[in-house]
Amino acid sequence: MSVSYTSAPSRIGHWIDNSLRPGSGDRLSPVFDPALGKVARHVELATPADVDAAVSSAVAAQVQWGAQAPQRRARVLFRMKELMEGHIDDLAHLITREHGKTFPDAKGEVQRGLEIIEFACGIPQLLKGQYSDNVGGGIANWSQRMPLGVTAGITPFNFPVMVPMWMAPIAIACGNSFILKPSERDPSPSLLIAELFREAGLPPGVFNVLQGDKLAVDALLAHRDVQAVSFVGSTPIARYIYETASRHGKRSQALGGAKNHMVVMPDADLDQTADALIGAAYGSAGERCMAISVAVAVGDIADELVAKVKDRALRLNINDGEAPGTDMGPVVTAEAKARIEGYIASGVEQGARLVLDGRNHVVQGREAGYFLGATLFDQVSADMTIYQEEIFGPVLCVVRVATFAEAVALVNDNAFGNGVACYTRDGRTAREFTQKIQVGMVGINVPLPVPMAWHSFGGWKQSLFGDLHAYGEEGVRFYTRYKSIMQRWPDSTAKGPEFVMPVN
Ligand code: NAD
Repeated sequence: MSVSYTSAPSRIGHWIDNSLRPGSGDRLSPVFDPALGKVARHVELATPADVDAAVSSAVAAQVQWGAQAPQRRARVLFRMKELMEGHIDDLAHLITREHGKTFPDAKGEVQRGLEIIEFACGIPQLLKGQYSDNVGGGIANWSQRMPLGVTAGITPFNFPVMVPMWMAPIAIACGNSFILKPSERDPSPSLLIAELFREAGLPPGVFNVLQGDKLAVDALLAHRDVQAVSFVGSTPIARYIYETASRHGKRSQALGGAKNHMVVMPDADLDQTADALIGAAYGSAGERCMAISVAVAVGDIADELVAKVKDRALRLNINDGEAPGTDMGPVVTAEAKARIEGYIASGVEQGARLVLDGRNHVVQGREAGYFLGATLFDQVSADMTIYQEEIFGPVLCVVRVATFAEAVALVNDNAFGNGVACYTRDGRTAREFTQKIQVGMVGINVPLPVPMAWHSFGGWKQSLFGDLHAYGEEGVRFYTRYKSIMQRWPDSTAKGPEFVMPVN
């Protein structure tokens, strides 16, 4: 069988037991091509009956999959890695057409997802348990990591390949079955991933895909046979998922939104900093959970920094993500565009200085596309809505502070704590920053400090609900539970009945 799903059909269904499944309901959601500004296809929205079908298939599949030797499971992932490498362009094409990000950026996303598969290929080492010999009376005690059963992942629109790959390869390598509920904004890559898993030899039911919205999510959250739910998306939904999953007795990790700052010290190289800011604020049209949306200018550098960022922002090539040389594509939907424009209006109303206004940006030949130009605000203060809320678009706010201590206090007071960066040439400042800052992922002269596959990804404060971060060893902990076993062979001791707590 060869992979056929390289261009999306007009109607996107579910994937259950290694084949495409039409849903049982008639609700559909439009999927747009954001660069063209038109509906490209429709995605089915799962009913509770579809959820039941996906969970039943996953329950049945997990029994044998969980009992497989871990190295056999790892071999499927090795094959998946090869297959995905062979389909990077196909995946990136699907991403660009439905998300809008540039084709090279979409390839980068697939590569970062592949790195989690590479990590999961080493699962036998990661599942090693702990063993204590002869804890008394010939007894051995060991602890081993066991799969949970059926696990589910609910993912956002902004990384339709990478974020599912934060979850599925590790869940599956650990012996679970996994149900993906991708974003209804850009569902097509999920079906190519599913087809590649089948080609890699994954048995039916171990990886299922349910397309859908809140109805599907709620049915998964309440389902008796779903043991754990991973979520990545906005903060209000993350909190809802965490609370609801917990109420239903499920393990949950829910990664939320962000407001990432870059603190720029007076000793920083301002050209390098402006280059970093441009990529981090406007790359992927600001639709990254690690995007920098606030630059904190310390001391008297703000005028020069703003001028340098403005100069570079004016030179950005904004176009269809598949046009060669494009730096920034459209935002995902007309609704997202209107929301971002609303934030820009509120910044003006509340007194921030609008240095660059990205509204009314038209791309020739793509007049209906959901494009915005790079937007830059100066003189932003902490009480403004554009500072407090996640805009999730190509809008950079500059806040001016007098000292390093003020900058640290500003970041620490912010409700979010996903990523942060500090640009400086001073080692002592850098060290103090890494120790004092209340944020989960920190970059020193690194604008987007996204941890590598063998570290773990997670914010603090309202950027993550739950105890464990995503992927890396934290991911293995999330998708397994310990079982402790004590064993004695009958002929090792013969003490007769014991009525007191055994001690040594
Ligand atoms: P979203 O919260 O709107 O949707 C995420 C998922 O939740 C989707 O699958 C969606 O179908 C589902 N969903 C939406 N509303 C729901 C509801 N009321 N009940 C149940 N499920 C619901 O997020 P989005 O717009 O797709 O993605 C952007 C957001 O994701 C941003 O806030 C961004 O910061 C965040 N994000 C965070 C990280 C991280 O690692 N912390 C990574 C990527 C994106």
